[in-house]
Amino acid sequence: MTARILSGVEVAAALRAEVSAAVAAHTGAMGLATVLVGDDPASHVYVSLKHAAAVAAGMVSIDRRLPATATQAEVEAVVDELNADPDVVGMIVQLPLPDGIDGDRVVERVDPGKDADGLHPLNLGRLVLGRPTVTPATPTGILRILDHYHIATVGALAVVVGRSFLVGRPLALMLGARGADATVVQAHSRTAGLADLTRSADLLVVAAGTPRLIGGGDVKPGATVIDVGTTRTESGLVGDVDFASVVEVAGAVTPVPGGVGPMTIASLLANTVSLARQRRGSR
Ligand code: NAP
Repeated sequence: MTARILSGVEVAAALRAEVSAAVAAHTGAMGLATVLVGDDPASHVYVSLKHAAAVAAGMVSIDRRLPATATQAEVEAVVDELNADPDVVGMIVQLPLPDGIDGDRVVERVDPGKDADGLHPLNLGRLVLGRPTVTPATPTGILRILDHYHIATVGALAVVVGRSFLVGRPLALMLGARGADATVVQAHSRTAGLADLTRSADLLVVAAGTPRLIGGGDVKPGATVIDVGTTRTESGLVGDVDFASVVEVAGAVTPVPGGVGPMTIASLLANTVSLARQRRGSR
């Protein structure tokens, strides 16, 4: 069997077209701000991609950069300034922040009503409680891929490898919430018998950051496999899934690159549109 390839590029293009239409229909500027601190090359690439996508969607992109020597107070002052700017609808603090800066405190400083990443504790708390909220971009993008390809989650056994607050933990909550209704097992680096678990999964999501952690022998025949992992190597971007062997066993699989990555950026833009609507509704 050769698995169906789930193209994040295709789903992201459809979502970005929806976002562009919503931005065009919006009265006034829709500003998306990014805060980038330091010189991490990967962070610079991600922020540039986010800007290009925001501009392409017709948003106003506000790019705030601080040197690696910036203090906690200086970073928080920029967040305060963007919180107070009426043209800023959504804001992203690019993580990780350099050593010496308390990232949790910076994320908590973002106005929850401008939290395009869905990572503010108030918004994550709403997610836990099952209340409407902006949800973290990568898990949201994964659910959109499943929805686009009509992959049912109700009653499915979903194994999520990884428990970060950015990906694994919110995704497990979202898959187990009413509506998605999967039965979720969350695995991590201390999980015993990982391969036995992954082989039982109808839906396997791997967000470990360990290149080729999952091979064809770790996958149930016909399962859906979502590869979140992105590790930069000399031969390019490598996922957590050994694509060549998994594609022979799975029913559907996302590639790296071209799978989850494009959905993360498109979902950030969609979150910004949601924040704009939320703000209009609260006026
Ligand atoms: P993270 O904060 O490092 O978390 C990794 C998680 O995986 C941890 O919970 C860790 O367990 C678990 N883990 C690590 N090695 C494992 C192993 N051998 N077996 C089982 N579990 C293991 O990383 P993250 O931010 O969630 O990101 C994960 C990956 O996704 C990275 O490659 C990242 O670059 C990528 N990513 C991609 C996108 C995208 O848009 N495509 C977005 C975000 C992240 P412990 O908790 O026990 O340490």
